[in-house]
Order: sequence, then C-alpha cells, then structure tokens
Amino acid sequence: GSRLEPAPLDPEQVIIDLTPSPKTLPSLENFGFGENKTDHMLVCTYDSITGWAAPEIKPYGPLSLDPASSCLQYATSVFEGMKAYLGPDGEIRLFRPELNMQRLANSAARVALPQFDQDALLTLIKRLVTVDARWIPAAPGYSLYLRPTMIGTRSAFGVTPSDSAILYVVCAPAGPYFRSGVKPISLLAGGEGVRAWPGGTGGHKVASNYSPGFVPQIAAAKQGYDQILWLFGDDRRVTEAGAMNFFIVVKREDDENEIDIITPPLDGTILPGITRSSCISLLQSHSTDELTLSHIPSSHRIHVHERILTMPEIAKWYSQGRVLEAFTVGTGVVVAPVGKIGFEGLEIVFPKYVENGGFGPVTKGIMERLLDIQFGRREWKGWS
Ligand code: PMP
Repeated sequence: GSRLEPAPLDPEQVIIDLTPSPKTLPSLENFGFGENKTDHMLVCTYDSITGWAAPEIKPYGPLSLDPASSCLQYATSVFEGMKAYLGPDGEIRLFRPELNMQRLANSAARVALPQFDQDALLTLIKRLVTVDARWIPAAPGYSLYLRPTMIGTRSAFGVTPSDSAILYVVCAPAGPYFRSGVKPISLLAGGEGVRAWPGGTGGHKVASNYSPGFVPQIAAAKQGYDQILWLFGDDRRVTEAGAMNFFIVVKREDDENEIDIITPPLDGTILPGITRSSCISLLQSHSTDELTLSHIPSSHRIHVHERILTMPEIAKWYSQGRVLEAFTVGTGVVVAPVGKIGFEGLEIVFPKYVENGGFGPVTKGIMERLLDIQFGRREWKGWS
C-alpha cells in the first residue's frame, strides 16, 4: 500500500454538534467589542503526522491546552479580524474574505505554523456563520465580528517550530464604532517605543505585535490622545495609527483642486489592511471616473499615492495650510476621521467639517461607499 499523507483540511468532514442551550441574545446597547460570544465555534486540529483532523463546529467554550504549549511559551499565535454583514435583502455577506484567508496563511508561515487549504477554511467559516446567523444584529451599522486564530500546541520546551496546532474561529456581535455620534480621533505621533521595523513582523498579523503596544497606548491616553500614530526611523516615518492604517489628504501648493491622498507603502512595517487596499482601489476608481464617490467636489482631481510619509513633511504642509483631512481605516472602525495629531509639542489640528457631521468630503465619500458595499446595498467587483 501507499504511505499515508497528512490529511488536508476538509469541510466535507465537518462534525456539527449544536448547543442544547442557546444563549439569550444580548441587547444592542449592552455589548462592547467582542464581549458576547456566539453559541458556537469552529475548531480544527493539526499535527504534522496525521495532518488536519475532521473540523468541528461545537458549543463555544474553553480550549484545553498543555501549559508548555508553544503558543503560551513562544507566542506561536496569529489571528484575523473580519465581519459578516446582514444585507437589506436578508442575505449574509463577508467582505473580501479570501484576503483574510491569504493573510492568515502568510501570518502562519511567518511563525512556522502549518498551512491549510484557504478555500476549505472559508467554506467552514461560512458554515459557522450560518449556524450562528441569529447573532448578526439587524440594526444599522451592526455586524458579526469573526476572529479566526491559529496557535501552536507543541508541548516541549525546545525553541523550535510547533509541529501541532489548533485553528479556531470564534464570533461576537459588534456595534458601530462610534455609538454616540462621530468624534474625530486624536493621535499622538511617536510616543514611546516602535511598533515594527524592517525585517520584523509588522507586516503580519502575529499576536506578539500587539501586547508591546499596550504600555505606549496607556501613556498616550494619559496625555489625552485616543491612539498612537506609530513612527519609524530618524526621518520620523508614519506607519500606522493604533491597529489601523492611515491616510492623509493634502492640496497642492499651486492648484487647490489637485488633491493628493497619501498612505505609507507596504514595506514590511505595515499591516496590509484589507480596508486600506479597498480604499486605495475605490479612490483610484474615482480618479479614473470608473465610479463617483459622493461628497468629493467634482472640481477636485484626486491622486492616490502609496509612498513614504514623514511627520516633518506633514508639519510643513500644515504650516502652509494645505492639510485637509486625515483618516484611519480598518475592519473594526471602517473609516474614522482624525481630529488632531500631536507631534513633538506641535498640534496639527484638522478642519472640523461640522456641517458634515465631523467628516471631511474624502473621508465621508470613502466611508459611505465602503459601508454600502459591505452591507450589500451596492455591488462592486464581487467584493462582498
Ligand atoms: N493595522 C493593524 C496593525 C491591524 O491590526 C489592523 C486590523 N487587522 C489593520 C491595520 C487594519 O486591517 P484590516 O483593514 O484588514 O482590518
């Protein structure tokens, strides 16, 4: 006979064990971010000899781990963040989920966790969302946040890659980021510490990127700022804002209708955000007239750039009166306007756009279009 190959992840083999005691749904006002988990979770286990075991959808609950597990000792832990949206037609949609599968696989590869069939995982996630569909609130701006996670479970102290792993997905209903009206966010540029550096892990969604940011975040909050604008290098390059990507909108010196929209390039220090990539693509389509974003004046010709962006540069544009808007983007927030940036004693204050509820025209145009696509109110390139 032929030798047995490690088994691939196979959605056909899924074992579904439904909970005998479904939870009471939380009331909309009562949930924060990820506090109320749904009834079920997806769990897939791997070891290098037998491969992927039959996936399970089962009641939400604790995992049992050896205290010496690789994920607890050496942070072999990677994750994703994505959402399921309920459309006006009653259909559930995921937004560009194949990009989350790809990014999860890349993150896993970065810390030598096993690979998996990305289509198979997506099929299983859809199955889980269908099982827990009643948890997607039908209220505007609400969705179901999904947290695919992979951890190494090798239980020996050798500092080597994990030869076993658990890939699991848990879900929690999520409300709109700004519950009581939009409040533009304030950013402290620099602060203490560095989030990512060339050759590091900033371009991957590895768990170990996040906890080192907590102390600088607390320090920024003490100074009255919502988030840190992470910088890198002697030239004070802008990388990301908190756990979101960053865009700035600047008008040109010689022509007020020529608008540059700049976001830092994916040089390995920046997480390749799916919202970031979608914003770039939508803005490019606006500039080539493939679509028209609302709110942006038709006299404005916009130009999108992925290029190095430094704080001294932003400070100079500010002193010239050319800085129009800045916004941060990510799955959780979708799009948030930036109200001010603190940098080495200087306060860069953005126009308030009171007439637009705190949103500049580019910020508002891009946000509305993204939400329309995510919630299935508008079809665009098969993204949802
Ligand atoms: N940067 C970081 C560091 C993040 O953790 C996230 C959230 N995944 C983002 C940016 C935004 O990425 P996305 O648009 O894919 O949610």
